[in-house]
Amino acid sequence: MTDSQNKRVVVVTGAGAGIGKACAIRLASEGAQLVVADIDEQALQNTCSEIIAAGGAASGFEADVSSKEQCTQLVEYALDNYARIDSLVANAGIQTGGNLLETTEEDWQRLIDINMKGVAYSCQSVLPAMVSTESGSIVIISSINAVIGSADMAVYDMTKAAVLALTRNLAMAYGKDGIRVNAVCPGNTITDFHINRLASQGVTVEQIREMTKGYGLLGHAAEPEEIANVVNFLASEQASFITGQTIIADGGYSLSLNT
Ligand code: NAD
Repeated sequence: MTDSQNKRVVVVTGAGAGIGKACAIRLASEGAQLVVADIDEQALQNTCSEIIAAGGAASGFEADVSSKEQCTQLVEYALDNYARIDSLVANAGIQTGGNLLETTEEDWQRLIDINMKGVAYSCQSVLPAMVSTESGSIVIISSINAVIGSADMAVYDMTKAAVLALTRNLAMAYGKDGIRVNAVCPGNTITDFHINRLASQGVTVEQIREMTKGYGLLGHAAEPEEIANVVNFLASEQASFITGQTIIADGGYSLSLNT
């Protein structure tokens, strides 16, 4: 076997920014060959360039996870290039909407299409290849909101809870095929989503870090790399006996609500 045939092949959705980008960079630093997907072509190129500049291997594929057809094409692209897929990080998601009374039909549609169906389509597309090799690991990015709730993101929270149910369902259905499926629930993480949203109000990244001081038990919001470390572990053979689990990475935020 050549060196590249030995390397794990990992698909990360929503890898153009934030947590997905950090996951792609982290997994590539461990020697994985990355197939990164996003709707934002320029962001995808940036992620690939960063990985390649650091000596890693990555190729990008523009895909919208809310399209089953595009998820299928993404997997075909990965298989055409690398002949197998070892791991999927189903990360692509949007954070929008308000409380239930404020939720528009458009919010409902987009959140369900991207956060719920998009995760399911991504998994559905990679599973046949993983079943054929009787191995694989899937990491689904949910949210702490799925577990503890929030007052102002009703449908978002519903979609994030739904993918925890999918995590358990897939773990139970495909464990016999050697496939592990786990979910990560990040707490507040300083990603491009928050950085861009607050930049429009003139807030800098440093100011965001200052504003989020005191978050959780550790007193700060996460950097995307802190979530990527958890994802890297779950995707890897280091987590070979963990499946169907929800790992909360919230810096103790959920416990801090009791104090
Ligand atoms: P982000 O906006 O910084 O990055 C998301 C990336 O996904 C972007 O590059 C975007 O172009 C891409 N994307 C969006 N819709 C897509 C689609 N339909 N198909 C393919 N790619 C698409 O977001 P983030 O904060 O890094 O969030 C990543 C995931 O983590 C999301 O599922 C989010 O719900 C979850 N999460 C984030 C936080 C947080 O505080 N940032 C907390 C909990 C959970």
